[in-house]
Amino acid sequence: MTRERCDVIVVGGGPTGSTVATLLARRGRRVVLCERETFPRFHIGESLLPCAMPLFEELGVMPELERRFLRKYAAEFVSDDGSFSRRYAFDQGLVEGPTSAFEVDRAELDTVLLENAARAGVDVRQGVQITAFDTDLRRARVYGRTSERKRCEVEAEVLVDATGQQSLVAGRLGLRRMDASLRNFSIFSHFEGARRYSGDREGDITIVLVPDGWWWVIPLKNDRTSVGLVAPVKARGDRKLDERYFFERVEASPYLRERLANARRVAPIRTLSDWSYSSERMVGERWLLVGDAATFIDPVFSTGVYLGMAGAFRAAETIEHAFARGQFSRTTLLSYERWVKESVEVYRKFVRGFYRPEFVEVLLHPSDFMGLRAAVTSLLAGHGIDRKDVRFRAAVFHLIARANRHLTLVPRLTARRVASA
Ligand SMILES: Cc1cc2nc3c(=O)[nH]c(=O)nc-3n(C[C@H](O)[C@H](O)[C@H](O)COP(=O)(O)OP(=O)(O)OC[C@H]3O[C@@H](n4cnc5c(N)ncnc54)[C@H](O)[C@@H]3O)c2cc1C
Repeated sequence: MTRERCDVIVVGGGPTGSTVATLLARRGRRVVLCERETFPRFHIGESLLPCAMPLFEELGVMPELERRFLRKYAAEFVSDDGSFSRRYAFDQGLVEGPTSAFEVDRAELDTVLLENAARAGVDVRQGVQITAFDTDLRRARVYGRTSERKRCEVEAEVLVDATGQQSLVAGRLGLRRMDASLRNFSIFSHFEGARRYSGDREGDITIVLVPDGWWWVIPLKNDRTSVGLVAPVKARGDRKLDERYFFERVEASPYLRERLANARRVAPIRTLSDWSYSSERMVGERWLLVGDAATFIDPVFSTGVYLGMAGAFRAAETIEHAFARGQFSRTTLLSYERWVKESVEVYRKFVRGFYRPEFVEVLLHPSDFMGLRAAVTSLLAGHGIDRKDVRFRAAVFHLIARANRHLTLVPRLTARRVASA
């Protein structure tokens, strides 16, 4: 059994854990980061947003990302039969900011970020699973097991839970609240030889709208393409989520069938489900939750990594402030929780809308009235979520979508999609 002391203990080495750890180590804090896996390891979440680019710049990893990953300049929405499509190019947004992002292999991205954390002085321990924790007025403690089955204990001033969907702290404290209106599942894999666009469009993410859900098509470097279906849990019935199911669903979509006509699968079929939840509290006495450990909405607008990392920057600032005051109470940390809840809410509304046909129809036929199309483009790029003008236009967009339900303001989708709600 080993027992150690440091300033900050971070549990989880995904993008949010390594970000908060790097920022605090750079400020001279002694940071220990425990990650249960040994990187590189597979992770879903491959399409990034332009608004994340300044965060990567700040972390100093841009040249490395530039070298490894494909640029993404737009998000495209396509109807199931391919007859309707709408491309939102990020350079046509309302808000100034980066106009491209990356499509990434997460195993590589997460390794780059974790190695960067180690270079910044973080004491990175891979193969260490944290199994328990306790916090009180004087300290935070975690208890774990190494891959050689040795027990370890780390004591710190503050604990940052970045365990992703495992959500260690919120799970143990019973704080997780599932979002019943977004009970979805996903089945996905990687392909080579899938049809893709050329030039600046090569990295476009395509969202294919099918009657009971949507597919992502994310082109990666070296001819790899990530393809996955998201649909409501209830649409699956008692079907087993396996290769047969996956290819039946591909066959049922004329657009997707065509894109995968000459493709071969090069990775296992994987599944996930029930990922939309929020922790009632995101900070407490000497603890903070960052990234998916705090909340996750839905993958449709590729917001996960950005919101997690932006939150990690905010968390690092809040923790520094707590060190300066010598206080780690919930009250001291509360501004971070407020920021996360507010930022996530803008997207949650947008995501819920997406599962309603009248909303998607307006998304496929956006109006330039009042700069609505430009505002939606900014939201899809992740820009301006904290700006009143963008939020106002997003609210108008929702109103128009609601009116479209009864008034048929834009052409209907051939097959009306079933709402998951
Ligand atoms: C189907 C689907 C598709 C998605 N697509 C996208 C997308 O295109 N773009 C996007 O931005 N986001 C996407 N996301 C979301 C994205 O995957 C997450 O938001 C992102 O990975 C969150 O990062 P994180 O660092 O908080 O957690 P994670 O990346 O999950 O990292 C958590 C880390 O903690 C480690 N860990 C867990 N428990 C312990 C423990 N007890 N002890 C030690 N270590 C532990 C894990 O091994 C892991 O490495 C998608 C999500 C889903 C479900």
